Amino acid sequence: MKPEKEYDVVLIPGDGIGPEISEAAVAVLEATGVPIRWREALAGEAAWQRVGHPLPEETLASIHEAGVALKGPLLAPKQTGRVTIQHGDAEVIYPSVNNALRRELEVFANVRPVRSFPGVPSPFPAMDVVIIREVTEDTYIGWEEMKGPDEAWAIKRITRKASERIFRFAFEYARCRGRRRVTAGHKANVLNLTDGLFLQCGRGLAAEFPDVPFDDCMIDALCLQLVKHPEALDVLVLPNQYGDIVSDLCAGVAGSLGLAPGANYGERVAFFEASHGAAPDIVGQGVANPIALILSGAMLLGHLGEMEAERRIWQAVATVLQEARWLTPDLGGHARTADLTRAIITALGRAEGVAGSA
Ligand code: NAD
Repeated sequence: MKPEKEYDVVLIPGDGIGPEISEAAVAVLEATGVPIRWREALAGEAAWQRVGHPLPEETLASIHEAGVALKGPLLAPKQTGRVTIQHGDAEVIYPSVNNALRRELEVFANVRPVRSFPGVPSPFPAMDVVIIREVTEDTYIGWEEMKGPDEAWAIKRITRKASERIFRFAFEYARCRGRRRVTAGHKANVLNLTDGLFLQCGRGLAAEFPDVPFDDCMIDALCLQLVKHPEALDVLVLPNQYGDIVSDLCAGVAGSLGLAPGANYGERVAFFEASHGAAPDIVGQGVANPIALILSGAMLLGHLGEMEAERRIWQAVATVLQEARWLTPDLGGHARTADLTRAIITALGRAEGVAGSA
């Protein structure tokens, strides 16, 4: 019998290990019983090879229409990495395909929960941090210029509008998920104007959320704290570039890049992707860890309002990691992607109590 309601979700398998881990994530999402109609779309190297552009118009249109997508990692176009999108007569040039995707879809908040799991070796078993990264501006707008043969400049753009929007998002996120605290990361003692404005916006918004404790930390001191006492930190709000760097740092501290999921939220569109890249060094070996994309898929289900299915996936992953029988090599085991996926699907059938989610 046809289910009453099917969700339309765009699936971009992606490049490198993308197709391997996408297959795993789709299998796990389907095993929850939530009815999804997948619409496959191309981007990255795969799109470049098939249709001659890394971000085809049809892919953007499809995501705009469905409003939600699950995306594997993408490889940048080989020569420049830059991506040109045509808007009528005007050309917009983006520094990378991921940057183009985020900005064309007008997503502004990249959310990356990073937590340690029992069973995965980490010096910090109580780590549970959520990184909320602003993704529309900062140095990643890609405005760079040569000022002669031996001098290159990059523009760092911070606006009140984007900064207030990301802090509002972070405070609302922290409030509705019962998180302990919001911390802004910055370097306002050196970058008085740009990071200074970012921090000022954080302080301003904090006054509107008196029930959510707020503080701030210099980005270098924040990194030190992340590798010494990450359990003391909770929700971190960061401008684009610091957010990018700190995400990988946190994933490493928690045990593996292969465990860190991610979501990108805009007003109309949300898409979900692992924090890691296409891992070209292990492509085709069948040993990629699919968990980051599986948990990104769980976040997608939560976004669709399927909280119970989201919770069950987090619990199944936690159970399989704790049992430590089916761990991929990045987690210190010998299992293959397919073994780990199968174990998660089996655990999903048993998942009932709450193991915690982002
Ligand atoms: P990477 O994340 O692909 O790999 C870094 C290391 O982590 C590698 O040793 C890799 O084998 C390992 N790794 C990553 N994911 C893993 C997983 N799921 N399971 C097991 N091991 C895993 O970073 P990189 O090498 O700097 O980037 C490779 C390519 O990916 C580049 O072209 C980059 O532009 C692209 N990239 C894409 C995205 C994205 O699409 N969101 C993000 C980052 C990098």
